[in-house]
Formats: sequence, structure tokens, C-alpha cells
Amino acid sequence: MADDPKDEAEVERLTKPTLVNCLQCPLCCDILFSRSQHDMRFCSCGALAVDGGPALEKISGDVTVVRMVKSFALFLPQTPRELHTDYALRRDAYGLIKLPRLKTRTKSKIKR
Ligand SMILES: [Zn+2]
Repeated sequence: MADDPKDEAEVERLTKPTLVNCLQCPLCCDILFSRSQHDMRFCSCGALAVDGGPALEKISGDVTVVRMVKSFALFLPQTPRELHTDYALRRDAYGLIKLPRLKTRTKSKIKR
């Protein structure tokens, strides 16, 4: 079965990482990408949205924020089909990566 070139091609397709173009919102720090052609994803604060699929066709949102962001590529272990299914079935497991907020201390709380 594994000797069949069709199976090998299928295995490679299913295990090949997916390249997605992402944006990071400068306000809420969420990383977002569009999982499918009609998938419009907003960040948590709503200032930024992406649409048009993993190739990042459209960016929308607050004009000031949109001017500040730059897209970057990210490899995902999920296949394009898994990303589309996640979108189509509204599972929403992918498309938004929330980074943990860094805790900052104010000057008055620093013990000497
Ligand atoms: Zn945001």
C-alpha cells in the first residue's frame, strides 16, 4: 500500500505544512489569518480583520492600525482542507492565535 505512488503523494499532501500569511494586531497582539476564501477573521479588539484565504487577500479594519501592520508567513501543521473544514463547520480552532499578555509592574510595586 505504501509502495503505491498515489498513496505517497497523498501522504505527502496530508503531512505537508500549510503556509499562511498572518497579521499581528498592534493593539491586542492577536495573530490572525484567514482559513478559507470567504473566512473573515477579526482580532479580539476588532481593530483588524483578514479575509480571502491563507494567501491573505484582504486586510480591513481601523485605518491607523491597517497602516501599521505587516504580514508574515507561518507554517501550520494543518492542511488547507482542515483549515477550510474548521471554517465551514464553525469550529473556530484555527485562524486566531492569542498570545499571553505580558505582566508589567508599575514603578510603585517594585520592591527595593
Ligand atoms: Zn486587535
